[in-house]
Order: sequence, then structure tokens, then C-alpha cells
Amino acid sequence: MNAPFRFTLATLAGLLLAGCYAVPVTGRHAMNLVDDNDVTKMSIAMFDEMKHQYKISRDRALNDQLRRVGERISKVVFWDMPDADWEFVVFDVPQINAFAMAGGKVGVFTGLFKIVKNDDQLASVIAHEIAHVTAKHVHEKLSQEMAVSTIGAVGMIGGMAGGASMLTVDALSQAYGLTTAAGGLAFDRKKEKEADYIGLMYMARAGYDPQESVRVLETLDAESSSQPAPPAFLSTHPSNPERIIQLLDAMPKALEERAASGRTAAPVLIK
Ligand SMILES: [Zn+2]
Repeated sequence: MNAPFRFTLATLAGLLLAGCYAVPVTGRHAMNLVDDNDVTKMSIAMFDEMKHQYKISRDRALNDQLRRVGERISKVVFWDMPDADWEFVVFDVPQINAFAMAGGKVGVFTGLFKIVKNDDQLASVIAHEIAHVTAKHVHEKLSQEMAVSTIGAVGMIGGMAGGASMLTVDALSQAYGLTTAAGGLAFDRKKEKEADYIGLMYMARAGYDPQESVRVLETLDAESSSQPAPPAFLSTHPSNPERIIQLLDAMPKALEERAASGRTAAPVLIK
């Protein structure tokens, strides 16, 4: 084996190792070709932009509830997001929607509070959104697109070297599913189901009743059938029996995690 070839192999192996990470809770190995710091920095900037773009709700009860639940979930995910600077914002938007971004930025639209009946149900939505972040689904989605758009290993190395410049605000907001123009789904079904599973374990570890996650999906189903156009949360989070079946399959383990957490939260009614 000649020297340059050996060098190329070593470089490739190094890049592949650097570009691979294990998803928390599931342990699945996923590909990452984008820079963590870039994604975080740009996510924080996008969140700040949203705070200017949308009216922020001053409703005391809603803000208190989001902070109470959000902080509890954030403690459970500490080791999966140790550098997060958590921020929980209620946006005064009637859509049923919620999202979480790298860096610990969580946004919930007032519309969501019309369908979540208690802290446990809000926890299930927030935990699902945060699971997308700890699983780095946005990184993976961007990486998959980059891998497809580059030709072969040499192209990939070139792409990685220029990774920072390849990451644009447009690409990132599309990966988050925050641009309505694309009209597509934020994440594929596999990532949604993974976020469901991880989120279920997170909420259980925080002491919330994991069974409430099923009720949220059922409410969303009912909501979508009574409206001509599906609510936003549904269009990016296709609710279906498959997701409910997976949640029910994982429920015994989630209930064990909740019991092991040593803490149970009594549901708090907001209305
Ligand atoms: Zn989702």
C-alpha cells in the first residue's frame, strides 16, 4: 500500500468516525456531516428572529405551565444537551404547534394549549420536540441531503471542509420544518417514531404519566377530522395508528422508567 493511499484511507476513516454519533436512548448510530456549533448558533439566531416576528403571549398561566413542564424535562435531558441555554416561549399564534431547536430553544403556540388538558400532555409534546433535538434529527436530515448532493468520497470530504459555508439559514429552517413554503414534512416517519419513543422515556423519567402521550395523539386525530385543513402540528407530525401502537408497545418500559424516577407529577388542570 503506498503512502498517499494509506493517508486517504486514514483520513476517510477519521471523517467517518467524526461524522457518526449515537442517538440517546435508542443508541442508533446516525450520520452527521454538519458542524454542531454552526447548527446551534444559527438555531439561536432563528429563534430570536421568531421572537420578533410573532407576538409573544403574556398569559401568565400558559407561561407558568410551559416553564414548569419545560424545566422539568430539561433536567432529565441534561446529559444529552449539557450546553443548552434553555428558553421556553409561548407564541400568541392560534395554530396547534410546538417546536424545539438546538441550543435549548422551545416554542409553543397558544393553539396547542387548547388541546393539552394537563401538564402530562404538555410534557409529552415538549419531550417529543426535544427528542428531535437530542437525536440531532436536523443534523441527520441535512447530512443525508449533503451526502446525496455530493458525488463520492472526495466530494464528501470537500463538502465537509466547507461544511460551515454549506449550511444556510434556508436549509436549516427547512430542516426544522419551519418554512411553510416547502409544504413537506419536517421529518420522515422513522424520525417521528424515534422522537415518539425517546420523548416517551424522557417524560416518564421526569415523572409524568407516559399514558397521556396516547391521549394527545387521539385528540389530534379528532381535531384533524373536525377541521377542513389539518392543524399545523399534524401536518408536520402525521398522527396515525402506527404511532399509537408503538407508544403502547413501549408503555410497560416507560411506566418502569417513571416508577424508577421516584417522582410522579399530579396532573395540573389549567382550565
Ligand atoms: Zn416530531
